[in-house]
Amino acid sequence: MAKHAFLSASSSHRWLACPPSAMLCAQEADQSSPYAKQGSDAHALCEHLLLEALGRPTKDPTEDLEFYDEEMQSSAEGYRDFVMEQVEEARALCADPLICVEQRLDYSRWVENGFGTGDCVIVGDGILHIIDYKYGVGVLVAATKNTQLMCYALGALDTFGSLYNTGRIKLSIYQPRRDNVDTYEMTAETLLEWADQVLAPIAKLAAAGEGTFCAGDHCVFCKVKATCRARADYSLELTKHEFTKPAMLDDAEIADILPKIDNLVAWATDVKEYALTQALAGVHYDGYKVVEGRSNRKYSDEAKVAQTVIQAGFDPYEKKLLGVTAMQKQLGKKQFNELLGSLVYKPQGKPVLVPASDKRPDFNTAANDFTDI
Ligand code: SF4
Repeated sequence: MAKHAFLSASSSHRWLACPPSAMLCAQEADQSSPYAKQGSDAHALCEHLLLEALGRPTKDPTEDLEFYDEEMQSSAEGYRDFVMEQVEEARALCADPLICVEQRLDYSRWVENGFGTGDCVIVGDGILHIIDYKYGVGVLVAATKNTQLMCYALGALDTFGSLYNTGRIKLSIYQPRRDNVDTYEMTAETLLEWADQVLAPIAKLAAAGEGTFCAGDHCVFCKVKATCRARADYSLELTKHEFTKPAMLDDAEIADILPKIDNLVAWATDVKEYALTQALAGVHYDGYKVVEGRSNRKYSDEAKVAQTVIQAGFDPYEKKLLGVTAMQKQLGKKQFNELLGSLVYKPQGKPVLVPASDKRPDFNTAANDFTDI
């Protein structure tokens, strides 16, 4: 088995926390998902808009993007504007900063065959800035001590550090669909200390399939998450809550349970999905069987249905207004804004209960309104 792929920067959070997971994941087949394709479409658009803003040659990839929509466009524009602000800041410090887009970054000095691609790297006198675009919504990504970005920064430091005096390292996450723009700063000295004392020794363990299993939030990115015993033990441990006497849970007990629920539900869902896949492949689980789920009636031949209904003297079609995205595609962005800008609004999203650390502003509830008064 080749040792090259499994110590990637993007999975470093997982394998640094649980070194044996690297070897186990490397033994599992890669599974492509629509989310991954959507992410790479979103990145392609960002790359194009940024190159365009920098005045470099580029080709508009829009027509080849399977998941292109209005949200992807406005998110990429926001990313481009954010990066260009950072470029201006760097230009204020240094006459001629280096701005790299989709830059291969090699951190193999610390991790065997370690390399990755930085969405944008700005290097100037006194500063090295790594900017990473995250299009996903599932997990809020923090910049603080983000090991993926730290690996990229090491790669950039190794390649460009000698050209500039890069004492300050900036790591930024731009995650538009979570309204999350997060930046963390550290010194090059601290980064190198971490690389020597933490990254390199753990990478060595991980490459050898050694180290201690450790379950936690990072398990959601692990390919063996459904069958891993350490994760099962950890998840079942979460259910051992000491309930006190009264029949009903009080608010303090619910507050204690809430942070454990996401991991528990994620683990339970992973086990159920894995068991279904296995059952379909012929594995028998005592007390269980596979049945057909609910389904709705469908037309087998839409053209024939329409023809038959017309012949019977009825109109088989309904007339519907195009959705916002389809309408913008038809009119073009400029005309869409001119004609319909004042007729488009964003309704309030559904309330979601999240940890207090979430950066989104508080939902405007009736209780909040009352408190304000
Ligand atoms: S599921 Fe979690 S504990 Fe198990 S190998 Fe993967 S990262 Fe480690």
